[in-house]
Amino acid sequence: MEDEKKLPEEEKKEDAKEKRENSTESGYEKYCQLCRRPESVAGKMIQMPNDFCICNDCLQKTFDSINGNHFPYMEMLTLDPSMLRMGGDFMKMPKVKKKAKPAEKEKQETEDASVPDIKKLKAPHRIKAELDEYVIGQEHAKKVISVAVYNHYKRVADKSNTIELEKSNMLMLGPTGSGKTYLVKTLARLLNVPLAITDATTLTEAGYIGDDVESVLSKLLAAADNDGERAEHGIIFIDEIDKIAKKRNTNSRDVSGESVQQGLLKLLEGSEVEVPVGATNKNAMVPMTTINTKDILFICGGAFPDLEKVIQKRLNQTAMIGFGAELRDKYAEDKKLLEKVTVEDLREYGMIPEFLGRLPIIFSLQGLGKEQLIQVLKEPKNAILKQYEHLLSLDEVKLVFADDALDAIAERALEKDTGARALRAILEEIMLDIMYEIPKDDSIGKVTITGDYVRGCGGPVIEMRGSEKME
Ligand code: ADP
Repeated sequence: MEDEKKLPEEEKKEDAKEKRENSTESGYEKYCQLCRRPESVAGKMIQMPNDFCICNDCLQKTFDSINGNHFPYMEMLTLDPSMLRMGGDFMKMPKVKKKAKPAEKEKQETEDASVPDIKKLKAPHRIKAELDEYVIGQEHAKKVISVAVYNHYKRVADKSNTIELEKSNMLMLGPTGSGKTYLVKTLARLLNVPLAITDATTLTEAGYIGDDVESVLSKLLAAADNDGERAEHGIIFIDEIDKIAKKRNTNSRDVSGESVQQGLLKLLEGSEVEVPVGATNKNAMVPMTTINTKDILFICGGAFPDLEKVIQKRLNQTAMIGFGAELRDKYAEDKKLLEKVTVEDLREYGMIPEFLGRLPIIFSLQGLGKEQLIQVLKEPKNAILKQYEHLLSLDEVKLVFADDALDAIAERALEKDTGARALRAILEEIMLDIMYEIPKDDSIGKVTITGDYVRGCGGPVIEMRGSEKME
């Protein structure tokens, strides 16, 4: 009888022991005593002596850090655990396999893509042909930029080290809306390299309110999805570079002009810079990575207002010397004056010689005329008119722009004097009512935009699906 009584009690005791071992007795899950994550999150716990639990990840990290510091007994431990007189439980510890991090794997796969291959580089004529599909006119600029970019990536890919090739950083001059930014954006997209666009007006000398020059590298790193190697082969476009010209007749410290030019020198030339990952400013909490700027292509752009006057003055001075002196204002009406720019003119304008020395390729873009503005409207692969036509075709409505409508749009854009930039705003204004009204009526089949409608003295021609015209 006594035996029979004891049995259930013993069973109970064993049950309780088992429960304790599984640590569910208290209703709580096991958790890693290093990272505090529960078993359901961190995976099966490894039981150590003295009820100490640790997850696979923390154990691996501990091993790694010990290995990294060449912990002298580590090898012995893996060779013959019995050499170390430690608790048996510890010796039964499972071997932890080091998992390859997915990010590392991906990096290996894309590594080849980030380093350009000489054989796969597009030849300048092919780069230009692709630019032609998007950028109207600017033949000279497209040619110069194609050759410069080709040479730049050839230099990056060249591992022979026989002759040191110089960087082909560029300085691009041209009025607003002539397509400077658009050209660089298109180029980066065609070459599939990361691009960072920054405005020189936001830059100041380090320590003053504003971004310091190194912030442009953070932008590039972000554009390259934080892949440092890809960023090192990217393009940085610094717009409004004329705004950091040296201020004349100033006695105060020029923190947003000459100092910024000075600050940019080392980036343009090539230097190693510590850049915060995933943030634009450095602070203790942000991890840093080192970016070498020697293979980054820098393109600076600016409208350089009044530079024409400097060029004109120089040309007139030379023309007025000697017996062959010409009429004084021969160059006043010259539309292509910017093409005649020299380094001396830019120095006169306020750019410092060291800065200009690091931008060996200087070229200019022309302001767009009426014909070219019309071409910008309809010819590029992603032309604005094509975009509107496509939008309405999704409503099964045909959109047509009459020739005089295009003339009128281009004339209005010319009046604004902001180049092709004005086109989009004008079209948005013209199309607003049409985009609002057309979806209301299913029977409309075709809309023709006329010159009168653009000039505000008429309406568009609307044709119903049955083909009667309405005005
Ligand atoms: P900026 O010279 O002031 O940098 P942008 O490149 O920003 O001028 O041009 C503004 C817009 O005008 C571009 O987004 C582009 O759509 C259009 N554009 C300007 N120039 C051209 C061009 N030559 N060919 C095609 N589109 C152009």
